[in-house]
Amino acid sequence: MIIVIKPGTQSEIVDEIVASLEVWGLSTQMMVGKENVVLGLIGDTSILEEDRVKELSPFIDRVMRVKKRYKRASREFHPEPSTVLVRGIPIGEEHPIVLMTGPCSVENEEMILETAHRVKAAGAQFLRGGAYKPRTSPYDFQGHGESALGLLALAREKTGLGIVTELMDTEDLNVVAEVADMIQIGARNMQNFSLLKKVGLYRDKHGQPKPILLKRGMNATIDEWLSAAEYILAAGNPNVVLCERGIRTFDKQYTRNTLDLSVIPVLRSLTHLPIVIDPSHGTGVSEYVKSMSLAAAAAGTDGLMVEVHPTPAKALSDGPQSLTPDKFDDLVKDLAKVAGLFGRWPKEVANV
Ligand code: PEP
Ligand code: MN
Repeated sequence: MIIVIKPGTQSEIVDEIVASLEVWGLSTQMMVGKENVVLGLIGDTSILEEDRVKELSPFIDRVMRVKKRYKRASREFHPEPSTVLVRGIPIGEEHPIVLMTGPCSVENEEMILETAHRVKAAGAQFLRGGAYKPRTSPYDFQGHGESALGLLALAREKTGLGIVTELMDTEDLNVVAEVADMIQIGARNMQNFSLLKKVGLYRDKHGQPKPILLKRGMNATIDEWLSAAEYILAAGNPNVVLCERGIRTFDKQYTRNTLDLSVIPVLRSLTHLPIVIDPSHGTGVSEYVKSMSLAAAAAGTDGLMVEVHPTPAKALSDGPQSLTPDKFDDLVKDLAKVAGLFGRWPKEVANV
């Protein structure tokens, strides 16, 4: 249930309303928007009558029941778009598009540093790269683990790029969180509920939660995806970004997955959480990555995750979908034009 307070209501009065709700055993989450203050009620509200709540104060404008099973993730509960700050960089609907770029896997020092320098020069804010890889076959390259995390930290030191890397196992949470500026939860783990709860509860040494990039499971509906996000939010971590990476459909002949770009307007209506599109896993073919990136920018994505490798033909994972650094430069040039049209490109490079 949400309570919309009348515009211009003094904060002391809002506090009184919160106190009366607490007497009823309900806790609240306060969201201060541009126009209104909205109180989200947390707890069992099933027996509460909307009219009874409205009678609490003449400063209550309206009371609405949130129908969705996911509450905190829903736009009904939280009408203003959320901004997730990662290493000081804002991700969300009201900010320029961010680029999370890099190899599928961290293979060695030379390749990760070369990629990091090139994508930084092209305009990326984040370096992506897997240390722990979810692979279909146990005989495929599984990632270099902790030593790869060390290389990501080195790449950040040399370039200033933020680090996005995947966590597969709760056992590795501390070592991954030590290096990651944003933890990726991969498609195959989207419904690993114990992992979701743990990343929701995690706090660093300053008591801060870690931003999470939650990929959509390859067979997940949008409601299942948002319910997975709800696990992280309900555990107390509000910094969740959703990442579409393609879903399984009947046709696998020409693309690895079907990139569902319609999630951009759909999610906008359902949730306040920021949205990232991954056209690399979404198509599985490097040739299609640029057009899908431009389409995602035109449709209003808040960020793109793009795989880039210095020599894709030699990549230990996902070579066929990886761009060379030159191809990424070319993508960014056109992306600046499309995103610039919608006011979603950082000003200093808007005219490249
Ligand atoms: C990846 O980002 O390299 C990856 C394995 O992604 P997904 O979980 O979307 O398959
Ligand atoms: Mn990959």
